Formats: sequence, C-alpha cells, structure tokens
Amino acid sequence: MIESCRRQLVEFTRELVAARSPSGSEDGAAAAAARWMSILGFDRVVVDELGSVWGSITGARDGRRVLLDGHLDTVEVGDEDQWAHDPFGTEEVQGRLYGRGTSDMKGALAAMILAAADFAADCARDFSGDILVSCTVCEEIFEGIAARRMSAELRPEWVILGEASDLNLKRGQRGRAELWVHTEGKTAHSSNPGAGRNAVYDMMHIVQKLQGLTPRVDSFLGEGIMELTDICSEPYPGRSMVPELCKATYDRRLLPGEDRESVLEQVNTALEKVGSNDPGLSAGVQCASDEITCYTGVRMAAERFFPAWVIEEDHLLVEAAAEGLRRAGLSPQVSHYSFCTNGSHYAGERGLPSIGFGPSPEQLAHITDEYVLVEDLVSAYKGYRGMLEVLMS
Ligand SMILES: [Zn+2]
Repeated sequence: MIESCRRQLVEFTRELVAARSPSGSEDGAAAAAARWMSILGFDRVVVDELGSVWGSITGARDGRRVLLDGHLDTVEVGDEDQWAHDPFGTEEVQGRLYGRGTSDMKGALAAMILAAADFAADCARDFSGDILVSCTVCEEIFEGIAARRMSAELRPEWVILGEASDLNLKRGQRGRAELWVHTEGKTAHSSNPGAGRNAVYDMMHIVQKLQGLTPRVDSFLGEGIMELTDICSEPYPGRSMVPELCKATYDRRLLPGEDRESVLEQVNTALEKVGSNDPGLSAGVQCASDEITCYTGVRMAAERFFPAWVIEEDHLLVEAAAEGLRRAGLSPQVSHYSFCTNGSHYAGERGLPSIGFGPSPEQLAHITDEYVLVEDLVSAYKGYRGMLEVLMS
C-alpha cells in the first residue's frame, strides 16, 4: 500500500510542478488538481471565478466542516541557469524531488488531496462532517485574498494549512503589512536649492524617527518588526533637480491585535512629531495596494495588510491534530510559522480556528533547486490522514 501511495504522491506532485504556475498563471496546475480530485471520487469539484479549485467529500454523519488549504501558485524560478535540476522536470535524486513548488507547496497539495480521498474511501465515508480541500491562486503575492472567496463559499469551521512545517504543528504566525510613507516637497533647479524643498531631506528625518520606534514583542510570535525595504525619489533620475517627492516602503510584521488603523496611527503619530518641529513638512502614510489579473481574466485588487493570528495550545483543534499526527507515527513540535500564509485570512480576518502542517522545512521555499523529500511527502500524507481520522470521528 505504501508503495502505491508513494507512487501516486510522486506522480501527482510531478504533474502539478510540470504545470508552471507563477501567480496569475495557475490554469494548468488548477486543471491538474481538479482532474485528480474528480478521478479520486470527490463529491464536488469546483473552479471559482478567480481560478481557485475546491473539492468536497461529505461523510455519512453530520459534523464539522474541516478545510485543508493550500495554494497553487509559486514564486518565479529566477535565473534558470543557476538551477542544477530542471525546475519543472521533478527529477528524483536520492529521495529528493526537485522543482519549483515541490516544497511550496505542490507536494503538500498532492498529499492533502490523496489523504482526503483515501481516508473517505477506506472508511466507506463513515465519518462525521465534510472534508473540504482548497487550492487557491495568487497566495504568493496576496496571502489570504483568494482565500476570502473560499471561506465565503465553503463556510469551514476548522482549517488546516498545508504550508511547510517540517512535519510539525504550527499554531500561529506574525502578520504583514506593507506601508508606503511619502513626503512632498517642491522642485527647483539644484543649482538654486533654496527655491525648492527637497523631499528626500524630509524623508531622512522621518526615517530616523521611525527607526527609533520600539517594536512590540509577543512572547510566542516574537517582534513586531518595521523595516525599511526601499526608497525612491521623483523625478528619477533627478538630473539637476531638487526632488519634489520621496516614497519609502516599510515591511511591518504584525502581532495579534494589531489592525490597519492602529498600525497607521503609530506611523502618523511619528509623522506629526517630526512635523511639530518643521511646520512646512508634508508627509503621509498608507497601506500599499496592488492588483493582479487572475488567469480567468478577473482582476483582484487588495491592500497589503495581512493580519497575525494565533490559536491557544490547549484548543481542541490543536490537541486533536497533535493526537492525529502521533497516531500517524509522527512526533510534532508545536510552534509558529515565520512567514505569512492564507491563515491571515482564515484565522486573522475570520477568526476560524486554524493550524498548519506540511512537509519540508520552511527554508526550502523559494530557493534555487527547491526540493521535497519523498519520505516527507509520505509522512505528510499519513499526517493528514491521521488528523482526519481524529477530527472527523
Ligand atoms: Zn506557500
């Protein structure tokens, strides 16, 4: 049985990886996921208008709606010449499957879908509730935005995120906001700067002030970081001109309880303090926003604000999931993700009890020669099955 399961996991992962799927171009991967779900006997398989795929299997008895969630998109390959293995070839070398998305997170999707189908078939659907599996688009650029549509449609009660956890159990993550701070000056010929107001000099005072802010610390999740990631002036290049505009981008890592308003207010207070010593200062802050066209042609626009979340260690879901993983022969450590996931929506925005479990350590995501261990895929498959056995009993 393990041999055929191993073969299916590899085959399914291979098909998903071969369907190159940077954010906004997930059509091939979505079609593969939908096809496998249909062949494996899911009751319903639906592609939504953003192009995300979900499937459901209903048990013989009433019960909870449990969602296994993952994403179809990957980051780009980067310089293909740097790869020793074909990024879409899924070569298997010494137990490792190489390719973009093997670890993040096509291997996990294959394991979740196969585990759900096999669990339901082996017990002849004698379980409580509904097993839902979602494969969302555009997670790599907009964590949790396609998931909003998913949760509205599927109404899950508990969520299992399949992002890489090195087969451990995750019960939270910091959130993330991208902030744009700007200053507005007045342009002039740089041979006569006194006639203008240099927006970069204004920004320098603000950057210094923001650097002096003390981040909040959460005993479980760590520091609420605010890090400058880029700075640009306009006009650029500024040949013989005093720049009239300057924009700085900040990566702000969020802690539980921090919302959009409180995060912006903290920066606005700092801007006001700088302005109180310099009445001519014109500055502001806003959440960065962006939009992408999904492969279905639908445009998805959103602010880059993805809240933090955490679930108590003694929550029934955490305890049941840990029990399921132990029954599958695993020994999960309970900790938190260090990156952002669709949990920002499910748990952060919707308040749904959520946990994370997936193959591979986090640091294998997004790298050149990304790989997943086949053994990890098999363990993840067993882990998802083990959790379903406990959660849907
Ligand atoms: Zn991911």
